[in-house]
Amino acid sequence: MRYAGKKATVIGLARSGFAAAKYLLAHKARVRVTESSTKRQALESAEYLRGLGADVETGGHTEAYVTGSQFVVTSPGIPRKSLPLVWAARKHIPVISEIELAWRDCPGRIVGITGSNGKTTTSHLVHRLLGEAGRPSVLCGNVGYSFVEALPGITRRSVVVLELSSFQLEDSPQFRPEIAVVLNLSPNHLDRHGTLRRYAQAKENIFRNQSANDAVVLNADDPIVRAMSRRARGQVVFFSKKPLSRGAYLEGDQAWWRDRSGRRALWRVQDLRLQGAHNIENALAASAVAMLLGVPRTALERALRSFRTLDHRIEPVGEISGIRFVNDSKSTTVASTRAAIEAVEGPIVLIAGGRDKGVDYVGIEPDLERKVRSAVLYGEAAPKIAASWKRYANYVIVKDFADAVRVAHRSAVTGDAVLLSPMCTSYDQFGSFEERGEAFRTVVQQLRSLSPEAGTGGGT
Ligand code: ADP
Repeated sequence: MRYAGKKATVIGLARSGFAAAKYLLAHKARVRVTESSTKRQALESAEYLRGLGADVETGGHTEAYVTGSQFVVTSPGIPRKSLPLVWAARKHIPVISEIELAWRDCPGRIVGITGSNGKTTTSHLVHRLLGEAGRPSVLCGNVGYSFVEALPGITRRSVVVLELSSFQLEDSPQFRPEIAVVLNLSPNHLDRHGTLRRYAQAKENIFRNQSANDAVVLNADDPIVRAMSRRARGQVVFFSKKPLSRGAYLEGDQAWWRDRSGRRALWRVQDLRLQGAHNIENALAASAVAMLLGVPRTALERALRSFRTLDHRIEPVGEISGIRFVNDSKSTTVASTRAAIEAVEGPIVLIAGGRDKGVDYVGIEPDLERKVRSAVLYGEAAPKIAASWKRYANYVIVKDFADAVRVAHRSAVTGDAVLLSPMCTSYDQFGSFEERGEAFRTVVQQLRSLSPEAGTGGGT
């Protein structure tokens, strides 16, 4: 796209907003940026962009920063009802996401990956298997490296593996990946989307603009995702943990790929380095993408044999007197915590809580009753979680995160796992899920140094 002389407003100076503003400035647009924060990071970014010629306001929004713009670029964290978006709507100024901005100028082939859970793991897996096949691939999007930042490194030969959240799919009116993947759908972010239906509609934007030459990879075992096939525009490719007549599926412990030309054995469950039933789903989805892109089976198998869990995702972080500590700080949904309880050997002492996203916590009770000895609830969401449990009563509430870890340690006995899998975001007490996971690791280390086995060479 040609942006020279065009007037653009960028809302928000977090990573993707900052990158979008830089990109537009590099393409000679007249850029204004409006940011409500006055945190050091925001002020530094503002200074930097002013140096490149942008008009930047921090500490609040004024309408003059939106008036007269030809388009507005929004960031995933900006709520719909924030003032600049309200002003833009009132003045009929088009609003686009940073994803749409980057997509317009992207020369590579795009694999877009979304879902409520497993996005990052599956995106990394696809990136890895492309690497094993010697195919140039660029991993970006919701993985901490924005699409627009990645653009300069993308060529016509690149495959862009793009992790997409529902927020990023909201203002992407023309975005069209060649392969779209929807892993699963469970209640999430209802504080922002309002209803599950609207959340699902945001996810469906991933394939809304596809045409017959594109493909959409859908989870046949998830009723909401399976039903999306009715609205698909491109080729529908299912994956499933049960046999299928077409697609990537499991039969016993053998994964298969079946298409018009017949079926091919792919890998066995025991080949996977990743643990847990949920990761079998992620591996099947990644395998479907691999087959669609013509990746050799051997490269796929090498990737799956070597790919281990990413940090903060059911990650073992140590052992004290036979009690295992598992960090699943990335789990911010009920479904992902259910997956973690399924994957971790019990009995479990669960640590959950943080900031609520407007969901309810009822569905997890059968999992708690089956495997969770006790739960320690912490932070803002603790009272809401406790109030929603009607049968499971084996919990305590504490305020502070570090206390939660200590209490969980005291409640556990040899053979148990203390599992941090919070179901909520970290933002009430931390800046990110990574910070929360690191805090968990630190408290576990402190507890270990105080334990009788410390200094005797035992433990871990
Ligand atoms: P996302 O990027 O969608 O948040 P991640 O790959 O980072 O997903 O995984 C986050 C957590 O979600 C994991 O630690 C695990 O507890 C859970 N999880 C991962 N894959 C799945 C899946 N396919 N279904 C359900 N839960 C999953």
